[in-house]
Amino acid sequence: TPLTLDARLDRCAEEFGERPLVLTDERTLTYAEAAEWSARLADGLVALGVRPGDRVGLLMANYLEFVPLKFAIARAGAVAIPFNYLYRQDELAYVLAQSKCDALITMTGFAGLDYLDMLDNVAPGWDRGGSETLPDLRQVVLLSTDGRTREGALTVDGLGEVGARNPGAAVPGTRNPDDLGDILYTSGTTGSPKGVMVTHDAVQRTGYASALTRAFEDGRRILFSLPCYHMFGYVEGLLAAMMVGGAIIPQPAFSPARYFEGIERHRATEILCVPTMTVALLEHPDRVTRDLSSLFAILSGAAPSPVWLWEQVRAELGVTEVTTGYGMTECGGAMTMSLPEDPLERASDTVGRPKLAGVAGLPGDICVYRTADPITGEFLPPGAEGEIVSTGPTHMLGFWDKPAETALALRDGWVYSGDLGRVRDDGYLELTGRSKELYKSGGELVMPKEIEDLLTKHPGVSQAYAVGVPDERWGETGCVWIVPEPGARLDADEVIALCKENLARFKVPKHVLFAEPSELPTTPTGKIQKFRLVQQAKARIE
Ligand code: ATP
Ligand code: MG
Repeated sequence: TPLTLDARLDRCAEEFGERPLVLTDERTLTYAEAAEWSARLADGLVALGVRPGDRVGLLMANYLEFVPLKFAIARAGAVAIPFNYLYRQDELAYVLAQSKCDALITMTGFAGLDYLDMLDNVAPGWDRGGSETLPDLRQVVLLSTDGRTREGALTVDGLGEVGARNPGAAVPGTRNPDDLGDILYTSGTTGSPKGVMVTHDAVQRTGYASALTRAFEDGRRILFSLPCYHMFGYVEGLLAAMMVGGAIIPQPAFSPARYFEGIERHRATEILCVPTMTVALLEHPDRVTRDLSSLFAILSGAAPSPVWLWEQVRAELGVTEVTTGYGMTECGGAMTMSLPEDPLERASDTVGRPKLAGVAGLPGDICVYRTADPITGEFLPPGAEGEIVSTGPTHMLGFWDKPAETALALRDGWVYSGDLGRVRDDGYLELTGRSKELYKSGGELVMPKEIEDLLTKHPGVSQAYAVGVPDERWGETGCVWIVPEPGARLDADEVIALCKENLARFKVPKHVLFAEPSELPTTPTGKIQKFRLVQQAKARIE
């Protein structure tokens, strides 16, 4: 049955009461405790003036407090905006202003970032009753992560005390499951991050579908350092675990040693990874010294995992269930997932099939995929390569305060993903790139991935990125950015010669630029921002 997020936590507390929901090295939080704490925090928020429909930002790493705070926002009837806590000052200023949030719950500092200092800069006066730069922001609550607080600002403990003095201030039930529950910002890989509006029910359905597809049973314990502000940690970790009375073991930052320590200490059954994390785990010596006997599953998503990696995971981590998935914030999380019983090749060549929806115990898929012409948007015949579009009950309501972008991304109930690929006969989805990264040279469409795949096979090339830049003669022409392997000597002529040998003429890039890895523009989560590479290429070529 559809429930609001806070009602879901209450329901889970009735059903799973004394079972652990969150396990950290310092503390265990049971379902009952989480519900109780969250109710108190919600009373605090309402007593402070948070009203149904208000937007409350939550800038918080994977600390235990994230969970009660997240559900408290829902219980207060407000909309949660979980922010990326690796934002640097300009990015934070952008999302705080763009989201027009009414209240913000933030850490004082994290990973070398000082949020008090950033707030002083982007919203001077925030601790003295309001800021001119961010007029909507009326309340700030601090979680002291480094011993610091600020006079005039409430702490999370203080918020709980306000709640305890105002029992019942928050009246549950002001929202429906189909109401806006979260505004989740996209990663900002192709432009400024966009606030995706999703309902209470949408994210729970994706979480439920995930538990069903990954064949969850009782007692799952999922360990991850992927952030809870992002769909991966939120839906695949927290919400999926809640559907079966399981527990999460959230870690604030990724470290292979801490992963192994956490698995042993908390008897984790499953870990969430992106492939680079999986590689780091396999290379770490603690893999053999720690007791990993409880671990049997891994979900490795967000980028392709080669077969050899899957084989090593099975052989060296003793994991029997490997799954991968693909999704996007606009669809309410991961929409496809491979099945635990799929052959490794299928989990490597594809990103899985639509998750099982399992509504009312009936089989069925959570969404429908097809492809469309990336230029005209017209649907293509089954099996044809094109822009991946999907529709389903978990898809977004739209982007917060961006009507033009919403009109482009959401057409007649279909989300246009901006990703390229094709749907195979067996329903599995293959990904081939992003449509925004395509460019036209002399009227011919060029797929950067084809050039990149060719160049990264060269032993002297560590990373390669192809982008289109304006060209007088061809309209656009290719420019490749090369990060050479350490010590490798490689020049532009060699790169061009290699392309000429292997690619059609219109695909051969005209410009070659070399860069150090640190010079490449990335999102806070490490994705390469091609739109910035285009700008930088233009500046360097002129
Ligand atoms: P923005 O929309 O702001 O440019 P973003 O698209 O990177 O940023 P997210 O919603 O966090 O923001 O990421 C979704 C995107 O991640 C997908 O559209 C896809 O391009 C990529 N992605 C997700 N899963 C996979 C996967 N398994 N393999 C390859 N790419 C993936
Ligand atoms: Mg996107």
